[in-house]
Amino acid sequence: MEVILQNLTKKFPGRDRKRREDVIAVNDFTFEIPDGELIGLLGPSGCGKSTTLNLISGLIKPTSGRIFFGEDDVTDLPPENRGIGLVFQNYALYPHLTVRQNILFPLENLKGKDRLTKSQMAERALQAAGLVQIEELMERKPKELSGGQQQRVAIARALVKRPRVLLLDEPLSNLDARLRLQTREEIRRIQKETGITTIFVTHDQEEAMSISDRIVVMRDGVVQQIGKPQEVYDNPVNLFVAKFLGTPPINVFDGRVRGGKLYIGEEAVLDVADVPDQSVYAAVRPEGFLPAGDGPLSCALTGVEVMGRDISVVSKNKASLNPAVRAIIGTENRVDRGAIVRFALKPGKVFLFRTDSEQRIPFEVK
Ligand code: ATP
Repeated sequence: MEVILQNLTKKFPGRDRKRREDVIAVNDFTFEIPDGELIGLLGPSGCGKSTTLNLISGLIKPTSGRIFFGEDDVTDLPPENRGIGLVFQNYALYPHLTVRQNILFPLENLKGKDRLTKSQMAERALQAAGLVQIEELMERKPKELSGGQQQRVAIARALVKRPRVLLLDEPLSNLDARLRLQTREEIRRIQKETGITTIFVTHDQEEAMSISDRIVVMRDGVVQQIGKPQEVYDNPVNLFVAKFLGTPPINVFDGRVRGGKLYIGEEAVLDVADVPDQSVYAAVRPEGFLPAGDGPLSCALTGVEVMGRDISVVSKNKASLNPAVRAIIGTENRVDRGAIVRFALKPGKVFLFRTDSEQRIPFEVK
């Protein structure tokens, strides 16, 4: 099912004593989600992710704008008539019901032409349980399950009505690191198997990047960038997006362009022939540094951490806006443990941003 958001805006009345103006939680969001895609809605706390999801689910009404599921304008429909499956961070299972009864619950309330016979319901519940691989837990109560298992039950319960759209709000937040990894792969598998258009809200960029067909990066209610995870990582439109994606984070320096060269401090570190003279933020991905004895950028070495596959070189530079400069290099490289480490920069891993608007300044990579 294709989902279309048209100029979606949600304002909440400002109630704070010091701040009376409305909070614009979602600001003019327009986006078409093709049938069968998994979209990751991503951004820091308070950027409007949950509000967007709640608008799509119908739990809250937009101030303006429309929402379509395919041809259907669902903007004024209540949640129960939209054909959605919802999964929240806290699994919200009924504690006194077994897993089977929890999964059956949404089917028991179907009315009119949607009503199912007892055996149809049982079959559907088993199918949904099979998708999330919990068939052997059907007679247990929620408190007898691990967090990961409870979340699977919640997903099965969301799938049992065969929703047109699946909405997941931070579904992995209550799980420990290992389970998170496992469960996110599960969600991807289930989504691929069922082909249900899915919107997944998270503040964890790695999570969103790893399972989404496309990500939407939001800030203060405004969409910053939409694209395939790799495209957004490789081509951030502004400094906010560049900083939000990637671990370790991108290294940002105060820089200057003079006569077609990028300067960090007094060192000319890169040719940027087509960029006019100006002050810039120069941002370098951790994998954009190449240790080289005659490299143009010099940093004061503070540590070298061997991490198996890679080496993390930690250093300092006066122009760095991050507390430390972090370079990730392959183990085939040698870093002499002197006081100074010199780097060449990979042009494709360096981005320039305006210091006023923080928008990207394109330059030709030679
Ligand atoms: P988090 O990751 O912390 O859940 P989020 O990105 O999901 O954050 P939202 O919950 O959508 O953010 O909130 C967006 C903005 O709208 C915030 O500034 C929040 O304070 C405000 N907001 C959300 N719900 C309400 C409400 N019912 N009344 C007033 N303001 C609200």
